[in-house]
Amino acid sequence: MGNTYWLNAKQKAIIDLGSHTIAKRLPLDEACCIILTHLHYDHTAALDQLVFSNGAKVMMHEADAKNIGTAASAAHAFSARAPKFHVDTLLKDGDQIDLGDSILRVIHTPGHTPGSICLYDAQSKSLFSGDTVFPFGGIGRTDLLGGSSHDLVQSISRLAKLEVSVLYPGHGVITTDSVDEQIKQSLKFAKANESPE
Ligand SMILES: [Zn+2]
Ligand SMILES: [Zn+2]
Repeated sequence: MGNTYWLNAKQKAIIDLGSHTIAKRLPLDEACCIILTHLHYDHTAALDQLVFSNGAKVMMHEADAKNIGTAASAAHAFSARAPKFHVDTLLKDGDQIDLGDSILRVIHTPGHTPGSICLYDAQSKSLFSGDTVFPFGGIGRTDLLGGSSHDLVQSISRLAKLEVSVLYPGHGVITTDSVDEQIKQSLKFAKANESPE
């Protein structure tokens, strides 16, 4: 399963929720929103049939939201049924999610999926990168439905222009170790893996 992040901001927020076990342990009714970096099963499985008592808003990019419940969730790769859930807020590039004492900027980063997003907090220079980039030069796979190695290169090029001190990836460890260099490495790797369109 992918990483889940609990943001202890003034308005509590959750980023990705692929595990029912983790969902059960979190005070979901205290969260204002659940932001999904993309549709894949390992990031969204726990939303299936989940009912929120206080109406925590589910947020996701429109390009992935329209594929909910389809094979684009890659649920088959986990021998599971595609999760079905309702999205309250459709996100697009440049949107700001205001958590009271911090603001997350939505960066649309297609490539791994058409509606993949990264979330950037300019104040703490934190980047939640979903499955677009991973630590130590890793990149998201582009061979699943809706993936594009070309789009991934464009998306990582945008990330490489950000100043990032902390990388919170969709898989693997959180890293603070010359993150800008790590993202540049990811860009190099993505370019080397780009297939001709
Ligand atoms: Zn994943
Ligand atoms: Zn994924």
